[in-house]
Order: sequence, then C-alpha cells, then structure tokens
Amino acid sequence: MVIIKPDGTARRRISALVLRALLDRGYTVSAFQEMKVPEPLAELHYAVHKEKPFFPWLVEFISSAPVLAMILEGQDVIQGVRDELGATFVQKASSDSLRGRYGIWAGVNIAHASDAPETAEKEIQLWTTKGGLKIEPSAEERASAYIEKYSKGTADYTMQIRDVVKRAIEEKDTSNAVLGLLKDLFSRDSQGISALDTDALAKAVFSFIEEEAEK
Ligand code: GDP
Repeated sequence: MVIIKPDGTARRRISALVLRALLDRGYTVSAFQEMKVPEPLAELHYAVHKEKPFFPWLVEFISSAPVLAMILEGQDVIQGVRDELGATFVQKASSDSLRGRYGIWAGVNIAHASDAPETAEKEIQLWTTKGGLKIEPSAEERASAYIEKYSKGTADYTMQIRDVVKRAIEEKDTSNAVLGLLKDLFSRDSQGISALDTDALAKAVFSFIEEEAEK
C-alpha cells in the first residue's frame, strides 16, 4: 500500500515523478485513486502511532488535501519501494532517494509505504473496505495517464518550500507571512485541487512549524 501524501499530490509534477520512479522498478498497479482521506480513516491508518505526540498532527496532515492511494505488486515490492523512498525523516534521507529529493522536512515526507507484508495486508484491507479503494484492471492505465499528464514541464517548488519551512523553524517565525508563503507555494502546481485544500495543507505544514518552534 503506497500513498502519495498531500505534500506530494498538491505538487502535481512532483507526484508524477515520484509515481514514475516507483513504476520504473517494474511493479504492477492494481489500485490507483486520488481521494481526500476522511479523518476516521486517517486515524485507523495511523492507529499504531495513536499514543505518539505527533498523532493529531499526522491525522491533520494526511487528511488536509487529496492523496494518491495505490496498491503496487511485484517481487520484493515492499523493500523496493521503501528503498526508493529513503529514510522517514527528509533530512536523514539520502539525496538520491525520493524523500531526499522531493520531501519537505522531517515527517512532511511525500509518501507512505507499507513496511512489512502483514502491515500491507492490513492497510490494503482497511483502504479497500473503509477507503473505497478499488482493485481494478484500469488502475495501471490511470497511473500511466497521470504520469503522462503531469510529468511535463519544469515545475518543482521543493527547495522554495523547504527553505521557508527550515528558516521558519530556525528563526521560530510563526507569523502569518510564513503561512501565506506556504499557501502560495502549495497552490502553484496544484491543478484540479481546490484552494481550500491547498490552504489546509499549508496550514498543516504550518502547524508542524509551530510545534517545532516551541521545542
Ligand atoms: P514511515 O513508515 O517511514 O512512514 O515512518 P513511521 O511509521 O515511523 O511514521 C509514520 C509517519 O509519521 C511518518 O512518515 C511521518 O510522516 C510521521 N512522523 C514520524 N515521526 C514523526 C515525528 O517525530 N514528528 C512528526 N511531526 N511526524 C512524524
């Protein structure tokens, strides 16, 4: 079970590049859907982190704007996808991994991927029953069409967004100007996603900055 999180999906070209990098490894796409994650589903998906201090933030973040939910199949797919993504925290991910290249900061890390066969089975069960994710033959074609549609051009605001977040944390700057910059940057390559959703994503990233600034 792979989910391109809102920070990826709201940057259309980047999400297409992430998807292409994963599919270039030769996996089959058996489900592919863009959707907003309802909070109850987010809570169940991240139930294992329920007691962690960052749990409420994680739920806010994953349900802020649409995600790309998918099921990939193939030889050693779990390890392969996690290798391609890199370490959980963006600043610890190697610079040639997807999180290192396109992640924003810390846990604003572009994608989720199941970490073991048992987790994958549980997550697929959850998303196909409670998330409306459908296993269907057209998934492969829709994923290819997504790549075709959005991978063109040069739009990549990773470094700008990362700089805003890093600087704001370092300077403990939680002013409205920072939120405004994030709203602007997350809306720039967000075709088909409402301003309400990109604003909610910016707000979730801003909440993360506020929490870090308090440390
Ligand atoms: P993953 O399997 O690599 O996604 O990592 P985990 O299962 O450990 O954590 C799930 C998700 O929670 C991560 O992908 C991050 O988005 C987020 N996360 C993990 N640790 C932290 C943390 O200390 N602070 C915050 N804000 N988010 C975190």
